[in-house]
Amino acid sequence: MIKSVESIWSSCLLLIQKSINTQSYKTWFEPIKPIKYEGNILTIQVPSQFFYEWLEEHYIDLLSQTIRKELGAEARLEYRIIVEQNQTQNKTTSYYLKENSDEVSNNGNFYNSKNPFVIPGLKKSPHNPQLNPNFTFESFVQGECNQLARSAGIAISRKPGGTAFNPLMVYGGVGLGKTHLIQAIGNAINKNFPNKTILYLTAQTFTDQFITTVRNGSINEFVYFYQTIDVLLMDDIQFLANKDKTQDIFFHIFNQLHQTGKQIVLTSDRPQKELAGVEDRLLSRFKWGLTCDLQVPDFETRVAILEHKMYANNIKINRDIIEYVAHHINTSVRELEGVLTSIVARVQLTQETIDIPLIKKILQNHHSETTPELNIPLIQSVVAEYYGLNTDLLKSNTRRREVVQARQIAMFFAKMFTKSSLKAIGKDFGGKDHSTVIHSCQTVHDLMESDVEYARDVNEIKKTIERQA
Ligand code: ADP
Ligand code: MG
Repeated sequence: MIKSVESIWSSCLLLIQKSINTQSYKTWFEPIKPIKYEGNILTIQVPSQFFYEWLEEHYIDLLSQTIRKELGAEARLEYRIIVEQNQTQNKTTSYYLKENSDEVSNNGNFYNSKNPFVIPGLKKSPHNPQLNPNFTFESFVQGECNQLARSAGIAISRKPGGTAFNPLMVYGGVGLGKTHLIQAIGNAINKNFPNKTILYLTAQTFTDQFITTVRNGSINEFVYFYQTIDVLLMDDIQFLANKDKTQDIFFHIFNQLHQTGKQIVLTSDRPQKELAGVEDRLLSRFKWGLTCDLQVPDFETRVAILEHKMYANNIKINRDIIEYVAHHINTSVRELEGVLTSIVARVQLTQETIDIPLIKKILQNHHSETTPELNIPLIQSVVAEYYGLNTDLLKSNTRRREVVQARQIAMFFAKMFTKSSLKAIGKDFGGKDHSTVIHSCQTVHDLMESDVEYARDVNEIKKTIERQA
């Protein structure tokens, strides 16, 4: 009697089920459809390229033994892979298919892999398109502000998944080097382990992919794709806040990767306690590995970063000028870079000699250029809210200590973030004169140098203002 392909496959499944755990069985064998058994060849259909790869990598021995047991030593296995029609719209899957497009048949619908337990080598591109080759450890200047994060990153890149730093969770304000660091990890792993599959993406891209996936009904595919990754680098996870469904799937993927010893690195622009809207179960996972933060670089590191960037760009600037810039730009590395770019542009365009008056002019323009959308009312409301005050108080003549302090800080940021003149700023604060504004800016500046707690508050406020831009 000739057995139907369905009954052959059911017998195979019985054997397989006994050999592996239920979860793996459900994930990897239940979705397989038997297609036909002809001329000693059993053809099965799998939902995706990733699925096929996964079977080949993890279950090929089990499959081959099972099929031999059922159908004799001559039997062979052939896969048919159904590729979704809308593949090209789906970023996750096209990533892989691009590299193997020669293997996808012309009608684009499915491809047959004639393969009696021989694994066709799957090519991996030497270039990882998501990684910026300039973001390396060599170009990431070390300082007290980033020492732990940098060393942990280097350790990971030597032994991805094999250190206690899994996940590595990097916190740090805007422009302090999170993206640079996480990509440096990716680039170093790419170099040390060219066969590892590395995926860098922002939580925003992940969310977008997931939304597309839900729309296309290809969630399984999405999950399988993430299971084929050896190193997951996810930037800016604060973006997951309040996105429950995306968090759910991320939780699932996180666990799967972590359980199989894959490396995970995450960054966030705000500390854990401010990640409101990210579920506790996720937050507690992040603590499994190492948590570290990137601080604002100290003066020496700022000088070192400027020198490094000038050297890399083949520019020479006197030391006193570098120190002047490093002294005045004490917020983020991105801002330092911005100023440096302005200096270079200015010098190249106008051939002016770089001296302190020129630098002063550049710094003045720079502050207003970086965040043009900010205005004084917005700054006032952020500062007022930070101190739990009514905005009108900032415009009043009250001399109450906490109001004076908030008013000074708001003026300081008005000067920093807007193009308004001192006179105009004074006017927006209920008609103060310009010398009051100068005095306020000076006071804030001096206090920041001498009072760590005060400086921390001011930096917090600054971050909040920047987020509004
Ligand atoms: P974030 O992702 O934290 O907002 P980025 O990683 O984008 O910040 O860094 C902003 C810029 O500053 C980038 O151009 C980056 O190369 C540079 N940068 C940050 N930290 C360093 C550092 N330690 N050494 C050299 N460049 C740095
Ligand atoms: Mg970033």
